Amino acid sequence: MSYQVLARKWRPRNFSSLVGQDHVVRALTHALEQNRLHHAYLFTGTRGVGKTTLARILAKALNCETGITATPCGVCSACTEIDSGRFVDLIEIDAATNTGIDNMRELQDNAVYAPTRGRFKVFVIDEVHMLSKQAFNSMLKTFEEPPEHIKFILATTDPQKIPVTVLSRCLQFNLKQMSREAIYEHLSYILQQEKTTAEPAALRLIAHAAQGSMRDALSLLDQAIAYAGGKVSEEAVRAMLGAIDQDYLFRLLDALAQQDIKAMLAVADEMESRSLSFDSALQDLAALLHQIALAQSAPDALGQDMPERERILALARQFDAEELQLHYQIALHGRRDLPLAPDEYAGFSMSLMRMLAFRPDQAGAVAVPASAKKKPEGAAVQDPGTAAHAPPFRPGARSAEDGAGAAFDGDWPKLANQLKVSGVARQLAQQSELRNFDGESMELGLAHSAKHLADRIYQDKLRTALQGYFGKHVALKIVIGEISGNTAAAKAQTERQARQGKALEAIQGDAFVRELMDTFDATIVGDSVKPT
Ligand SMILES: [Zn+2]
Repeated sequence: MSYQVLARKWRPRNFSSLVGQDHVVRALTHALEQNRLHHAYLFTGTRGVGKTTLARILAKALNCETGITATPCGVCSACTEIDSGRFVDLIEIDAATNTGIDNMRELQDNAVYAPTRGRFKVFVIDEVHMLSKQAFNSMLKTFEEPPEHIKFILATTDPQKIPVTVLSRCLQFNLKQMSREAIYEHLSYILQQEKTTAEPAALRLIAHAAQGSMRDALSLLDQAIAYAGGKVSEEAVRAMLGAIDQDYLFRLLDALAQQDIKAMLAVADEMESRSLSFDSALQDLAALLHQIALAQSAPDALGQDMPERERILALARQFDAEELQLHYQIALHGRRDLPLAPDEYAGFSMSLMRMLAFRPDQAGAVAVPASAKKKPEGAAVQDPGTAAHAPPFRPGARSAEDGAGAAFDGDWPKLANQLKVSGVARQLAQQSELRNFDGESMELGLAHSAKHLADRIYQDKLRTALQGYFGKHVALKIVIGEISGNTAAAKAQTERQARQGKALEAIQGDAFVRELMDTFDATIVGDSVKPT
């Protein structure tokens, strides 16, 4: 059997297996049970929260051969055909690519005819806000006097772009972003069913990187399983995501509590030398400050089993509430301003220095320069020479930024590893291969199985990273289709396998091991051999 990606394999097929959307499920279940059906539904919510999944379940609920039901049987031909995407009366339209009026005319012509197989003809229009104005107007006609056999299910990430005339005719449901905890629980459950093991900290990292999208979480988990080649370890996932080790952040805040700028900049240098993303670092720093603030005002809100609980509580004792608020603001602003900074290192270290330079005015909530209130003691006072700490000279990156593409030798897998992107955007870089680059525009190929990585927001992140690298705007085009496999991910995989092979060879060739094998009839368990 071929391997099926987790996101598809574990796609919920009924209301009860849909995670984290209880409020929507309850309302729809009641409506279906009492046969109070509306002719148009609108599902809103950020990407990957399950809008189209919910639309398909609703289509089954309306067309199941057992009758209109909140618990579609899943085995009748209507249910199975909807699950496999072959049901003739379920028409899915992606408005992002079919924005025009012609597509809507086609839909209208089609809507006149009675359903071929099912009870209802169901039109699912995804990303409906992308429709042109004329297309909306044309759709409105069908909306105002819908034939009995028609149901519309609209889905969008941006309901504000939908005309009020359309909105007012829809029953609207807002799908919530998945909480990290819900994602973590669900990933743990799936791995248990798949009989694959993972370190809890590894799953927490994935849940964090998925930013509320279960679909992203599952595709990251897929990649983590392939990457780790067995047990999904925290270390492997951290490397895969380019995630920031929390230890850096704790050391930064410890140094901040001591007002030790030297120590803070030393940590920043270390991060720089490991090519960590400062954008992610500021994001994670803000998240950590939020947890510390929580620990201060509601210590119970921190889970008992939370990793690093003690370190968070210790920091909560060292800062006062206003300081935390201010540092949090500085981290947020620092992240916002990062694209404008001379380079990421400068932007990051300036944010750190700002945390030291300003402290909240106890009388009001206004931040005043630290020097105006009291002289910071010890290491916080720097002579201007060291305080201005210039970023270390990085020959590769520098010349690339100045020389507009000069530093790119066509080795895309290598560049994909160097680019300062994290999470899903990093996966996009590592799973794609170079099709074409003329110094102005870049075309990347991406396999069908990884096409979910090509979401607009991740393309934007990758484009920003390319711009940072080349020092100018680079047009980016992602083409989904066959790829030959010259990707960073494939390369890393091959290297890992080679290392594993060598390690196994070394063990097999070891005289002592041979003696053990001969004397005790021992065998080597291949999986247990780890390259050093
Ligand atoms: Zn059925």
